[in-house]
This record gives sequence, C-alpha cells and structure tokens, in this order.
Amino acid sequence: MKQPSQKNIDKMWNYARAYAAKSGTVFHPDPEVTEAVILGLAANIDEVGRPLCPCNFYPDKAAEAKRREWICACDEMQKWKYCHCLLFVREDGLPITEYLPEGHEGREIYGLVTDPTPDKGRALGRVLERRESEGSPSA
Ligand code: SF4
Repeated sequence: MKQPSQKNIDKMWNYARAYAAKSGTVFHPDPEVTEAVILGLAANIDEVGRPLCPCNFYPDKAAEAKRREWICACDEMQKWKYCHCLLFVREDGLPITEYLPEGHEGREIYGLVTDPTPDKGRALGRVLERRESEGSPSA
C-alpha cells in the first residue's frame, strides 16, 4: 500500500481518538492493529475522499464512498457499537457484540462480548430504538 498523506493520517488519528472517547471504546492493545486501520482509512480519504472502512472489499470504491454505510464510524458501529476492524474495542481487544442481531457474523466469531460502557456510543441505535418504542412507522 502506498503511504497515505500525513495530513489524512493526522486527521484519522484525531478523529479516532475523539470517537473512541465519545463511544466508550478504546484502541486495540496491539498498536499495530490500530495503526494499520488508521493508515487504511487515511489511504481511502486520499483515494476516494472519504474514510471508507478499509476492512471490506468494494467492487466500486468510488460508488461506495457516496453511500453512508461504510464511512467510519460505519453504520454497524453507530447502531451496534461493533467494529469489525478492531479499531474501537474493549480493553481486552475484543469488539463489542452485545447489540448485534442474531446470526450476525460478529456473534458467530466472537460470541457474546458485553459493553463495559453502555451509557456511551450507539447514537444511531438509540434513535432507532426510541422510534420503535414510540411506534413510529419505519421506512
Ligand atoms: S468497522 Fe466501522 S468503525 Fe470500525 S474502522 Fe471500519 S468503518 Fe470504522
């Protein structure tokens, strides 16, 4: 992989530090894991203008970057506090799987991994739960 621009590496470190604090997660205990993900995100900003998740394969990266789903922090993180890249994890390095729906691959790989800071993160998940409990019609 070509070395990403320093500007976007710095941008991603700043973003990831702030998002970890906000979501009540920490970086992986192996710093190489974190660094690899940050570099991948920065490379995607260089390439397609957005921090597209580096842990997926996209048939068309530019088209994917126009959608919201896999822009970091991705929908899975915002809904279920689950980071399959292992960028935002618990102190023991495991990704939180507590809120994943049954049958999600994260549950199958890691089993039940509880959230040590349930009062933080899941901004989108909370909105969806509130809508459901209020009985709003969904799209
Ligand atoms: S899985 Fe989601 S939150 Fe984790 S690095 Fe990829 S885009 Fe970001």
